[in-house]
Amino acid sequence: MRKTRDHPGPAHTRRAGHVDVRETRKHMTKFTDLNLNPKVLKAIEEAGYETPTPIQSGAIPPALQGRDVLGIAQTGTGKTASFTLPMITLLARGRARARMPRSLVLCPTRELAAQVAENFDTYSKHVKLTKALLIGGVSFKEQDALIDKGVDVLIATPGRLLDHFERGKLLLTGIEIMVVDEADRMLDMGFIPDIERIFSLTPFTRQTLFFSATMAPEIERLTNTFLSNPDRVEVARQATAAENIEQGVVIFKASRKDREASEKRKLLRAMIDGEGDKCTNAIIFCNRKTDVDIVAKSLKQYGYDAAPIHGDLDQSQRTRTLDGFREGSLRFLIASDVAARGLDVPSVSHVFNFDVPGHAEDYVHRIGRTGRAGRDGKAMMICVPRDEKALDAIERLVEKEIPRLENPLGSARPEPAEESVPRPAKSPRSKKESAAEVPAEAPAARPQPAPRDPAPEPAARDEDRGPKPSRKSSSARSRSDRGDRKSSNVVGMGDHMPSFIALSFDDRRAG
Ligand code: AMP
Repeated sequence: MRKTRDHPGPAHTRRAGHVDVRETRKHMTKFTDLNLNPKVLKAIEEAGYETPTPIQSGAIPPALQGRDVLGIAQTGTGKTASFTLPMITLLARGRARARMPRSLVLCPTRELAAQVAENFDTYSKHVKLTKALLIGGVSFKEQDALIDKGVDVLIATPGRLLDHFERGKLLLTGIEIMVVDEADRMLDMGFIPDIERIFSLTPFTRQTLFFSATMAPEIERLTNTFLSNPDRVEVARQATAAENIEQGVVIFKASRKDREASEKRKLLRAMIDGEGDKCTNAIIFCNRKTDVDIVAKSLKQYGYDAAPIHGDLDQSQRTRTLDGFREGSLRFLIASDVAARGLDVPSVSHVFNFDVPGHAEDYVHRIGRTGRAGRDGKAMMICVPRDEKALDAIERLVEKEIPRLENPLGSARPEPAEESVPRPAKSPRSKKESAAEVPAEAPAARPQPAPRDPAPEPAARDEDRGPKPSRKSSSARSRSDRGDRKSSNVVGMGDHMPSFIALSFDDRRAG
């Protein structure tokens, strides 16, 4: 494997392996230097982009030369355009054949796939290219009809793509260019066996453009196996938080353990209020889907313009919510990690971590939703005592202390409005039932103590087709194989560790 290409931009703007997009832009090549199709250049100009970002000036030239590219870049760095622009330029030269797409982009989630499709629409508006989006929630029939006619670009989640393939509707032997986007998230979701299979169904002569924010050993193995002498383009040190994001954490201890959830919600409202007009819009992250629903409902109840997004919501609702958030008609998006992964919302002023993420690198992904493309952003987090270990892990990863913020409420008080709502009468119920039913009524109807068991975010596989037992085991294996999950102290629990396990011994006794 050829070693890292040098980053565009002068040395003084970099720390080791890190390029500050804002600084570097001033010194960069122009789009017109990159050999892109003039019609693509026109679309770029119309999109208002002046200079290529580092990943773009690093990845576009080798991609246009037909080389494999290994791009190590987070979302928000302009990486989508770094593969769509050369792809459109290369594909503009040929023609699609029935049932044999010429290029394939694999994305871990439906939202990300839809976003990539939008990018293709934006940049190929002056070029005649056909595309199909193979994601769950869209009927097979419509997608089959498109594929039958022949498409230049197929954008898909791995599960749905394999479903189409297995139904005999699709041939991957005409793939000239294959893109794997957000490979690290694919790994988290147990997609690596699917990706390997898809690689093996495409011609070995294909060109591969492979993107990942981090290089876990499993990803390294995959790239060593399927990429041929790639140009390695790295624009951010592994798990580096962008420097233009102001960060802070409120260390919070509830007045009583059983009031923690409602007091946290009150604290969140106070943090939002404290930001005033500076908080034009925000993504609020929770670790569990049940909490995503509860926090969204609670905020709505208190008059905030909020809506949830997670893998259990149907596709049309997710799309509506996201569109509203993008257009500015929705101010607060309450999200789980998987649903929010890779979402490109151009100007999010704030990210609130309602929970400290259990995996340190998720913190970097979460706060990367703000401060995108060089804008300033603010990321605030609530840390309860049992999350202090996870906070330590984050600080070790980002190599700095996250500034402690004053609790805007002073000391925590009980939340009468929410606490006074009676518990649901039905009891006992299984934990799963509780999780599913509680948010349907009102946030306050959540049985106390708060459910401690995880409500694991379904992988896109679960969204796009039914889980298969054999895949589950490979998913678990991939996750436990990861070398960069140091923040997780418990192995074999999947991505969502029950919170009680993270309690210190003293906390457990107290609770
Ligand atoms: P991505 O990392 O692909 O999710 O892109 C992040 C954001 O940067 C998107 O909103 C893009 O529209 C925007 N963007 C991409 N390339 C450029 C560029 N060269 N100049 C300004 N903005 C860009």
